[in-house]
Amino acid sequence: MDDALILWYTKNKRSLPWREPGVTAWGVLVSEIMLQQTPVARVEPIWLEWMARWPVPSGLAAVSQGEVVRAWGKLGYPRRALRLHAAAAEIAAHHNDIVPSDVDTLLALPGIGDYTARAVAAFAYSRRVPVVDTNVRRVVARAVHGAGDAGPASNARDMADVEVLLPAADAEAALMSIALMELGAMVCTARTPRCVDCPIFGSCAWQKAGRPEYTGPAKPVQRFAGTDRQVRGLLLDVLRDTDGPVTRARLDAVWADSGQRDRCLDSLLVDGLLEQTDAGLFALPGEH
Ligand code: SF4
Repeated sequence: MDDALILWYTKNKRSLPWREPGVTAWGVLVSEIMLQQTPVARVEPIWLEWMARWPVPSGLAAVSQGEVVRAWGKLGYPRRALRLHAAAAEIAAHHNDIVPSDVDTLLALPGIGDYTARAVAAFAYSRRVPVVDTNVRRVVARAVHGAGDAGPASNARDMADVEVLLPAADAEAALMSIALMELGAMVCTARTPRCVDCPIFGSCAWQKAGRPEYTGPAKPVQRFAGTDRQVRGLLLDVLRDTDGPVTRARLDAVWADSGQRDRCLDSLLVDGLLEQTDAGLFALPGEH
């Protein structure tokens, strides 16, 4: 599968700003954290803004947590902003302001998980390490195992599955990693894979097996309306849109269900995304 897939990737890859030549490992790290839960189209403008404002980790580390949460805008899951801020401080203080290149050192940074560490090693430093996200798991499930979709994740098995697909040389392996991910995102999609456009159609085990239906456990459907995630976002929006602390009444106005609102406000305080002042007002972290 290697040559056909890598060739397809080099000809068909999306032009994304974090894939441009000259983008630093810091740029790749920021993009990977932003992209984890958020679609590309929403990440692009915020990533460009962040890179212009904070081209090196020490730049981000120098501003308050509140400024970082504000700049995160509406990307969602804003704890990621605090994680990036903490990682930036560590990189600035202990790694000469340069994102480390090996998986273990990356994993030792605050808030950097297995996927992100591997993605940075592969995409920023062309290291031969398996990088497995949902898209890659689905491609492997179909193309290699002949299943209709990936079953529940299993870190060790998923890594081993991808490891054997990687070419021996680092640079090619890194290309293969990103090509697998791009194929899953653009062609071998969850609901309607575009098999006629697939560069590995001829060797795909799912095709050879007659395209069997997926029979594993159903994936949970993620909803947003009415969830705590929505309410937390609305509460944070109030603070993002003002310069200083706000009263409890301002926050109470965003959601009618007081039980859910209180729970969400508490969780934002616990997560360090909001702080309460001595006067009982609410502020973004470090902004009072
Ligand atoms: S042929 Fe279809 S199912 Fe197989 S890898 Fe390509 S897009 Fe996915």
